[in-house]
Amino acid sequence: MNRPNPSHEQPLELAWVGGEFVAPAAAKISALDRGFIFGDAVYEVIPAYGGNLFLLEPHLQRLEHSLEITRIRNPFSHTEWRNLLADLVARCGDHDQSVYLQVTRGVAPRDHAFPDIEPTVFCMSRPMVGVSTELLQQGLAAITTEDIRWNYCHAKTTSLIANVMLRQQAVDASADEALLLRDGQLTEGAASNVFIVVNGQLLTPPAGEQLLHGITRERILELASKEGIPVAEQQISEQQLREADEICISSSTKAILPVTRLDGTAVGTGSPGPVWKAMWRAYQMEIEQVRRGAVG
Ligand code: PLP
Repeated sequence: MNRPNPSHEQPLELAWVGGEFVAPAAAKISALDRGFIFGDAVYEVIPAYGGNLFLLEPHLQRLEHSLEITRIRNPFSHTEWRNLLADLVARCGDHDQSVYLQVTRGVAPRDHAFPDIEPTVFCMSRPMVGVSTELLQQGLAAITTEDIRWNYCHAKTTSLIANVMLRQQAVDASADEALLLRDGQLTEGAASNVFIVVNGQLLTPPAGEQLLHGITRERILELASKEGIPVAEQQISEQQLREADEICISSSTKAILPVTRLDGTAVGTGSPGPVWKAMWRAYQMEIEQVRRGAVG
């Protein structure tokens, strides 16, 4: 899935901070940065295939939205963001990359209220970690657990300790992801959106304040309609989740993956299902087009 970096002179990974490109391990940010002190920051993770950023515009729009919600000033125009990220990716080469960008409120003496300061920008590109064939054949294991997070889950903030603890709960149970329930309704995964399949229909919880409006989620809904798979955004109860024919999770660097075990019990037949297979194929075809530079 991942292509080797063709040039030995190009770095496999690279960061940008304070107006300069540096090795990620050498990037330095003040310990007084509010991103470090308060988690007072927003971020994006954007995939690049064959050196081409995928779905950049919706990612930049969501960044803008997260910045508006948190009232952090956007330091760049869309064109400036586009140029910076394209430059970062080009400097690394045409292998598949995962681009991380973070905007913090900036550096100031510790005090909760917003200071009037310049935001800090940190960007980084690293080789994308592919999904193994074994995982695609077997599917993932997930657990269900209570969604203990706050009420601004639609903002992509770096204050992720709840998500980190929830994912660790899954790992402690020898599972890959935690699927979150709030008042008995499915919201999303610790780091993914969730779909279920019922009688051939692809269902996902509606985009509100309880979940991140995933860029992959949105693209899957569009692609499913193109594939002739009926889709609906609707509340999903714990019981519907447990009785689903298929469960899938989505995120920018993993596309769409099948969940075949939930709390130790087989989902549907216990193998990746036909709707996931159709969506995986459709998504991979689109990624191939991005690699060839045909779509962005
Ligand atoms: N929900 C959460 C909590 C996430 O952290 C992520 C991505 O990491 C997603 C959903 C998927 O979002 P996207 O498809 O934009 O990567």
